[in-house]
Amino acid sequence: LTFEELGLKPEILKAILEIGFENPTPIQEKTIPHLLTTQQDLIALAQTGSGKTAAFGLPVINQIDADSKRTQAIILCPTRELAIQIAKDFDAFTKYTKKLDVLPVYGGSSIEAQIKSLNKGAQIVVGTPGRVVDLINRKKLKLEDIQWVVLDEADEMLNMGFKDDLDFILSHTPESRQTLLFSATMSREVLRISNDYMNSPEEISS
Ligand code: AMP
Repeated sequence: LTFEELGLKPEILKAILEIGFENPTPIQEKTIPHLLTTQQDLIALAQTGSGKTAAFGLPVINQIDADSKRTQAIILCPTRELAIQIAKDFDAFTKYTKKLDVLPVYGGSSIEAQIKSLNKGAQIVVGTPGRVVDLINRKKLKLEDIQWVVLDEADEMLNMGFKDDLDFILSHTPESRQTLLFSATMSREVLRISNDYMNSPEEISS
């Protein structure tokens, strides 16, 4: 299979080509068509290095409404380094699309600067759970137009003690969202999150 055959927009294909991706990885082959054609929740067993960032990033970017500045997708991940990396990857994927703002938010860095950026509007927010909770509590991050919630490295987030933060965030996003969970392992806690917050998810492994 080629990226063309997966159904992505030409401007996204152009960016992927420039980055140097030639063919989709196994996880991308499975997740991209699913996310482009259904609203069904998704659990993907995926290791780092499997191409998971593009697996959730490309189909979400393909469907974001660039004419609205509202936050439509939120990616949750365990560390600031990963948040920055995901946002950087998304910036590369959106190089030729209509302007999309991808904002990384994480602790240990000025919340005021992040609030300023949120006030300008960011269609996609990538953040660590603690800082995301803080921004929700301050009413700076609005979740009512969220269509996609991605839990990246869900097992790691739970290992790091973000259970309560994930519960808080998930319970504050619209019921109509599509929830995507990526994890290297399926621990009991990961299954609990999926039981509590996902609707009959499709399960995919690479
Ligand atoms: P990830 O699992 O998202 O951290 O990606 C691991 C590495 O694989 C990153 O350096 C990506 O840029 C790269 N990558 C992702 N998808 C592809 C692809 N389809 N072809 C080649 N490299 C890729």
